[in-house]
Amino acid sequence: MKDKLTELAQAHGFTQAAFIRYADAPKLRNSPPYEYAFDPKTLAILIYPVNEEAEFGAEQAAVKDSYFFTSNKAHHALNGWINAARELGIECAKARGISEKASAAAAGLGVIRRNTIMYTEEYGSGVSIQTAVLSAEVDGKPLQFSVYSESSCEDCAACVDACPTGALIGDGNIIKESCIRFHQMKPLAVPALFREHMTALVGCDVCQAVCPANQNRRVKVSYAECRAFDIESLLEASGDTISALAELIGTNLAKRDRVQAQAALIAGNTGCEKYLDSLQKLSESPNEVVREHAAWAIDKIASRCSPSA
Ligand code: SF4
Ligand code: SF4
Repeated sequence: MKDKLTELAQAHGFTQAAFIRYADAPKLRNSPPYEYAFDPKTLAILIYPVNEEAEFGAEQAAVKDSYFFTSNKAHHALNGWINAARELGIECAKARGISEKASAAAAGLGVIRRNTIMYTEEYGSGVSIQTAVLSAEVDGKPLQFSVYSESSCEDCAACVDACPTGALIGDGNIIKESCIRFHQMKPLAVPALFREHMTALVGCDVCQAVCPANQNRRVKVSYAECRAFDIESLLEASGDTISALAELIGTNLAKRDRVQAQAALIAGNTGCEKYLDSLQKLSESPNEVVREHAAWAIDKIASRCSPSA
């Protein structure tokens, strides 16, 4: 059973698979127990690697960090694997309320480093972790409960020092409300303190780019590793642009209002007057967040253009 499920995982693009008892799986804090349509016996943890690179240039906004498009592809790969497992007569569903990073580390697939990210040996932090619950008992790996591996970082603190917003505490924890990624593409206005850090649609990951443990991985984290979109086209957010984005990062994130709101901050941070016409239009958007971000961006550009600025 385990070999067959692992073989199916590889056929769907996953490079590693591990199985642990569902009862042992690290759950997310503050997540209520999730009820499945069957009694889950096993948690499957599947690793999908980053395997693409792309370029972006000046005056473009980007999906920085391949994680976002890898994770979208991994999500579809997981659905394919779940269907294949069902064809074997196993009840199977996407896991809910599980800490994917902690589960992967506990199953021995990698270690969690000081920047709170799970690293595999082969791909460093360039992976998406997917999890599913199974009705069958699968002969699993013994758990390793060294979830945060302080020793793997030794005396390095490059990620803590490089984080532009001080989100990393240094003890393997993160203040998630201080992380740039936490505020991107949400239906809420980005707090004023974080707006000037918004130069991409999604992704920051400075803390992974500086990490020496990523230097030997197959696909390196870099600012060239992203997908680019013209800022003007993001402000307009036509149906074609939204469809292209949805294919890349999923329909949950690629919503017109969110794209326009995030693009307004990016445009404001360029300081370029050429975006003012589009921003003026957005300042009359029916969406409150789009209006607020557009007004902020107009002020930001005006302050840069002002002779006294
Ligand atoms: S993603 Fe960016 S803001 Fe978030 S912890 Fe890493 S460096 Fe800091
Ligand atoms: S940058 Fe240094 S401290 Fe941070 S995760 Fe990488 S090795 Fe650990």
